[in-house]
Amino acid sequence: MTTPLPRIGIAGIAIESSTFTPYRSGEKDFEVRRGTAEILDRYPFDVPAAEYVGVLHARALPGGQLDREAYEGWKAEIVAGLRAAVEDAPLDGFFFDIHGAMSVVDLDDAEGDLITAIRSAIGAQTVVGTAMDLHGNVSETLFEACDLLTCYRHAPHIDAWETRERGMRDLAETAARVRDGGPRPHKALVHVPILLPGEKTSTRIEPAKSLYARIPELTERDGVTDVSYWIGFAWADQPRCKAAIVAFGDAAEAVEAAALELATAVWEKRHEFEFVAPTGTFEQCLDQAVASTARPFWISDSGDNPGAGGADDTTYALARLAAREEIRSGAVSALMVSLVDPATTDAAWEAGAGGRLEVEVGARIDTREPGPVPLAVEVAALDESGPTGRAAALRVLAADTSGDLASARPTGLTVVVTGRRSQWARHEMFERLGLSMTGFDVVTVKMGYLEPDQYEAAADWLLALTPGGVDQDLLRLGHSCIDRPMIPFDAEIPAPGAGDVFTGGGSPR
Ligand SMILES: [Zn+2]
Repeated sequence: MTTPLPRIGIAGIAIESSTFTPYRSGEKDFEVRRGTAEILDRYPFDVPAAEYVGVLHARALPGGQLDREAYEGWKAEIVAGLRAAVEDAPLDGFFFDIHGAMSVVDLDDAEGDLITAIRSAIGAQTVVGTAMDLHGNVSETLFEACDLLTCYRHAPHIDAWETRERGMRDLAETAARVRDGGPRPHKALVHVPILLPGEKTSTRIEPAKSLYARIPELTERDGVTDVSYWIGFAWADQPRCKAAIVAFGDAAEAVEAAALELATAVWEKRHEFEFVAPTGTFEQCLDQAVASTARPFWISDSGDNPGAGGADDTTYALARLAAREEIRSGAVSALMVSLVDPATTDAAWEAGAGGRLEVEVGARIDTREPGPVPLAVEVAALDESGPTGRAAALRVLAADTSGDLASARPTGLTVVVTGRRSQWARHEMFERLGLSMTGFDVVTVKMGYLEPDQYEAAADWLLALTPGGVDQDLLRLGHSCIDRPMIPFDAEIPAPGAGDVFTGGGSPR
């Protein structure tokens, strides 16, 4: 006799969103999949054998808070779909496919809210598993509602799919076991009140490198299945934002000991997290870039990194590049890539390649100082083949001949504007506008740490601590709802102890 396959539901909303950017993420920012076939198609690996019921999965680029209406609509659809599935037959398992740092307008714990609604539809008996980004947050509500929680072990996230595969495999096994009368796994959560940007916690460098390297040894212990370390998400102002360690497995004592051991190791390194690259104010970075003989010299405009949720249109860097004498004169060539600005992009398209016009660039979403930058420009190239929608490369003209566009001469500055928020991490993004990652003396890009193509192209680079919705200088942002004490907001935090271990699982619910 063969055991029947476990019946497993899948749903989730995956976005990383900053509460400090004025950008609002909405339905248009998401790729939405509905139904089992479309959702399973998302996984580039052989999913474990099970009878799957996919309901709805939505994912987006990092952004701002998700508008409440879109969220509530998807939540209602997920709950209704799961209720209908349960009416056919109970679900043995449910895979909660999320990022873990979703912010929704007027919700402090969006994933906690969503899983609570899902639990009400699927019931207490269903085994729930989730596999998250290590920049997600684990609230007590999320921990209580999920039986199995795991997250990536690398940043950059080279193991994103491997993590989901591990999560789905553990879920399928556990769901079948619990259905057949076996015990639920034991689980333990320890929060460590440290809130750090990803640029200080890359697993390529210490101390994150060796902290994550401890995980395989912990998971090999008897009675321990999985141990994970969430860095947490620094750009949301919510009580759940902090580092978290979760372990699960079949031996309560071993699981709790493993979680507390890794939490203590993180706590011991609490003062050792540093930026992945040398940093400075944008002015300091630009001084160094102009003076350097390393070409191209890259500067990361990190406070407005759309990859972490920045608006993608602050003008702090652009205004300073445009004003810089060596760039105005053309002695130093510079590229600013990119700012989302549909109006300027459309105006450039109307003018056509070679056309000259006066524009005001940027600061339409994030209007902070210095605001839109007035520029006289010549359209160098146009393209609409990429994920940015329309894009335009604009060569900035010497603007002191205001009104006399025809005779104005080009400066050393080129700026790229786009119709949609976008990240310029790959060679082909530049090539479609006739640009090259190495074709300028100075390249300023809205990023955090440089991605592989950029890193290889850069002869040297600096991380500029610019203001924005994902400011790397967390103390400037004005968090007021996070727990305290919290590093780096407070000088010291207490060591985690046995009293800080939340536990659960093990017995029938
Ligand atoms: Zn991440």
